[in-house]
Amino acid sequence: MAPVDLAFSVPSSVAEAIGELAAGEDVILMGGGTSVGLLLKNDLIAPSKIVWLTKIPALRRLTADAGGSVLIGATVTLRELAGSEVIRLRFPALAYAASRVGNPRVRAVATVGGALTHSDARQDLPPVLYALGATVLVQGPTGAREIPVARFHTGFMQTVLAEDELVTAVVIPAADGTPRAAYGRFTPGSHDDYPTVNAAASVARDGNGRIVRAALALGGVGSTPLLVPEAAALAGTVPGPSEVAAVAAAAEAAASPFDDQRGSARYKKAMAREWAARVLAACLDEDGPPVPDLVAG
Ligand SMILES: Cc1cc2nc3c(=O)[nH]c(=O)nc-3n(C[C@H](O)[C@H](O)[C@H](O)COP(=O)(O)OP(=O)(O)OC[C@H]3O[C@@H](n4cnc5c(N)ncnc54)[C@H](O)[C@@H]3O)c2cc1C
Repeated sequence: MAPVDLAFSVPSSVAEAIGELAAGEDVILMGGGTSVGLLLKNDLIAPSKIVWLTKIPALRRLTADAGGSVLIGATVTLRELAGSEVIRLRFPALAYAASRVGNPRVRAVATVGGALTHSDARQDLPPVLYALGATVLVQGPTGAREIPVARFHTGFMQTVLAEDELVTAVVIPAADGTPRAAYGRFTPGSHDDYPTVNAAASVARDGNGRIVRAALALGGVGSTPLLVPEAAALAGTVPGPSEVAAVAAAAEAAASPFDDQRGSARYKKAMAREWAARVLAACLDEDGPPVPDLVAG
């Protein structure tokens, strides 16, 4: 059981939240509490104080600039993300991934900051944010810093955040050319289970169909999400099936999953190849749906 003298603070500004973090030991941040609540219930953490972030107006922003980039505040919920007009129009693969997290009760309260910092490599959002080249905005007592999302996760439930830092927002840059992104997830379990393996790709092309930027990221194939560098080499090409197959083979080779109840490492490597090929093909299929429904299982 959690200690009965657990303190609870509801700051109204980022500075106040950082002050709370700096003031005591074993102080933890909470967004929607879907992960923190489970950890407390199972006695896996014993904080002295919880700092609840959802009443800080600056963290609730979801804004788009005229140039095409979007800032998503840390306490925007996954339900809000999935339903946002701006996100559905500019980054439909992200809206789709958010709509696939857990169940409606989880999505109603779980936040973007919590979904990033929870740091379980099977989560839905991170591969999409990796593929879109997002940046995590972080603030601490000495100021703000920006971290490319692909450098944010360091292991299971571990990130580059210092103990007195918090995530304030995620920024997704505008894409050059004509962008198209796709997300796919596979689970042999129930529809609302975590994915066994998931994959996201983002491709932007110029007016001649030539790729100006390509990125591919996988989840569930190691202790952190994985950016597959070989996808970037598609830039400058007009790829066909053999180029897609080569990147998918590189994705399988780079994957280092573990055996668990969701499948053997060997099986997950094969799934990494399959889903990498599917999301890349979906990005390259101009006649396909804007939000490809690539879910299976
Ligand atoms: C039943 C269930 C099913 C789920 N299924 C899925 C699924 O299918 N796919 C999937 O991707 N995920 C799934 N999840 C996990 C879910 O995505 C995470 O629990 C959720 O996103 C965490 O968000 P939160 O706001 O509730 O975080 P919290 O529980 O509040 O916090 C999680 C962690 O992040 C830290 N934190 C929170 N906000 C910040 C911040 N702004 N800055 C720094 N640190 C912060 C907290 O200290 C804590 O360490 C599931 C969870 C549950 C309970």
